[in-house]
Amino acid sequence: MSPLTQFDVLALRREFPILQQEVNGHRLAFLDSGASSQKPRVVIDCLEDYYRRFNANVHRGVYKLSEEATFAFERARGKVARFVGAASHREIVFVRNTTEAINLVAYSWGGANLGPGDRILLTLMEHHSNIVPWQMLAERTGAHLDYIGLDGEGRLALEELDTKLSERTKLVALTQQSNVLGTINPVRLIAERAHAVGAKVLVDGAQSVPHMPVAVKELGCDFLAFSGHKMCGPTGIGVLWAKRELLEAMPPFLGGGSMIKLVELDHSTYADVPTRFEAGTPAIGEAIALGEAIDFLSGVGMAAIHHYECELLAYALDRLSEVGGLTIYGPSTPVERGAAISFTLDGVHPHDVAAILDSEGVAVRAGHHCTQPLHHHLDVPATTRASFYIYNLAEEVDRLAVGLEKARKLFA
Ligand code: PLP
Repeated sequence: MSPLTQFDVLALRREFPILQQEVNGHRLAFLDSGASSQKPRVVIDCLEDYYRRFNANVHRGVYKLSEEATFAFERARGKVARFVGAASHREIVFVRNTTEAINLVAYSWGGANLGPGDRILLTLMEHHSNIVPWQMLAERTGAHLDYIGLDGEGRLALEELDTKLSERTKLVALTQQSNVLGTINPVRLIAERAHAVGAKVLVDGAQSVPHMPVAVKELGCDFLAFSGHKMCGPTGIGVLWAKRELLEAMPPFLGGGSMIKLVELDHSTYADVPTRFEAGTPAIGEAIALGEAIDFLSGVGMAAIHHYECELLAYALDRLSEVGGLTIYGPSTPVERGAAISFTLDGVHPHDVAAILDSEGVAVRAGHHCTQPLHHHLDVPATTRASFYIYNLAEEVDRLAVGLEKARKLFA
């Protein structure tokens, strides 16, 4: 067991079948969990079990299989609610992913609450998922977008709140943790400032909910969006949490089956929340398997996960500082950031860096990571990103560093 270990990480790794393989003749070092995490056996088995034993549509059938599916689906909603400290399971809307959750809020809440001259405050470090839906909303409503800038180490320039937050600001939408810089933002403080001018706060939790304890009451936000596939769950399932009174006042996003009370030829009435926002057949097995992923993560303990990743991150920042020609973006102090490290290597294109690492069995991501405005601000077209999760090891950090040295020598 590594000295970093708060839990038995080697035993935990064995729960992830995909990590047992070799890639290009090397044991796989998967350092791209920021894009999508790997899945433990219990989650894979859970999905299979659903399709093998009780696959049926939910909320409709009066037969045993459908009742069983409905029970498991709604039980998963309860697990999600407890996981983020929601006041009720009714505050949990199942969507496909973070992107859909944010679009739902932009379309439904935004369409009903924003008008010409209103302002939406974002930050320069947002993922495109937390920019483009607001641009589309601004185009439809005549609202304007403002952005909080960054300091030299990729922290939010909080002093800009003084000028950029006003009574015209209707929404502040920000990520809790940057997928590129790793920066963890002071959401609670920003939420207090936003509420003081009457604005609502949406938190993009895609990179935080999988990695640290997140409780909506402590964040002080109004909406929280996250994706199952980044937290050991399947793809195709994500979550929007919203305060119940907000959800109840929001018009539907998509229309169709399930989300109605009564349909007549010329109009319909809508179901209560959260069903009002879940038109059509949902991702049933995926929601149930997300519940299993939550059980798995809770079993390890979110505080222990965060602690372990902080130690791994500190080790990685230290180890990578030995690699010549490497520029690391984001805060240099580990406590200010999560375990995603983006960097450039002098004289080597990020895609070449990733290709060389891949030849060593180290999987990292290269590109703009869906943050073009941030990369524009950093004045680089692309970066390479290594992102860590509970199953990564200090020795994988070493292999990353060795691979980077190799890339540097090859391109020298
Ligand atoms: N927000 C952040 C910070 C992300 O890192 C991502 C995905 O990488 C997203 C939003 C979008 O997530 P999804 O593609 O699951 O909708």
